[in-house]
Amino acid sequence: MSTDAGLAQRLALVRSELADSAGRHGRVPDELTLIVVTKFHPAELVHELAALGVTDVGENRHPEARDKREACLNLDLNWHFIGQIQRNKAAQIAAYADAIHSLDRPELIEPLNRAGRDIDVFVQINLTDDPGRGGVAESELLPLAEQVLSSRHLRLRGLMAVAGLGEDPRKEFARVRSASERLQTVAPEATSLSIGMSADFDAAIAEGATHLRIGTAITGKRPISA
Ligand SMILES: *Cc1c(COP(=O)(O)O)cnc(C)c1O
Repeated sequence: MSTDAGLAQRLALVRSELADSAGRHGRVPDELTLIVVTKFHPAELVHELAALGVTDVGENRHPEARDKREACLNLDLNWHFIGQIQRNKAAQIAAYADAIHSLDRPELIEPLNRAGRDIDVFVQINLTDDPGRGGVAESELLPLAEQVLSSRHLRLRGLMAVAGLGEDPRKEFARVRSASERLQTVAPEATSLSIGMSADFDAAIAEGATHLRIGTAITGKRPISA
């Protein structure tokens, strides 16, 4: 396997930036899980990342995610599904995903649960007024969370959100943090926050991020999508 020196450098840089950011905001780097988003990249990149010590990868499309995982079965990785989920794909995604960050409606719970594997779940909240963006409206969060809690195999970990384009990410993530406080009134263990991408991870760490989903800052530009 060819090693990409650029990849190793970018990964090391992001890791040190995460640690600096944690230090600036009174956080401990151990509280942060770095998920490297490998969507559109080939399985070889996942192998290179694993060789560099990456433990968590993120994918947003089925069946790309399934196929890539199958090409990486010899690697000890946690696979995070971070993209919008079609109901008729949910059971298939639940067959391989270790964590799902994009649960956003009740109809997904039954097919995800049916796979019979314990899966970590983040409820995605939509910070925009555009229902097409994915994520539950904040007003629907608690009823959805309660349904997740009553499922057998889904372990509610916390919330996921994507900051809106052109918005101040710090303000956006502050809204997620207060939604998280409300969530914890019904789900005290659901303390995780999956917020922060390449462009806004410092704001996310300031607002309590526990899971960072970082793609291009580490992988470089994504290949053109199919
Ligand atoms: C692609 C993607 C990311 C990573 O974005 P970058 O800007 O490349 O870091 C994070 N979260 C979700 C939901 C994504 O689809």
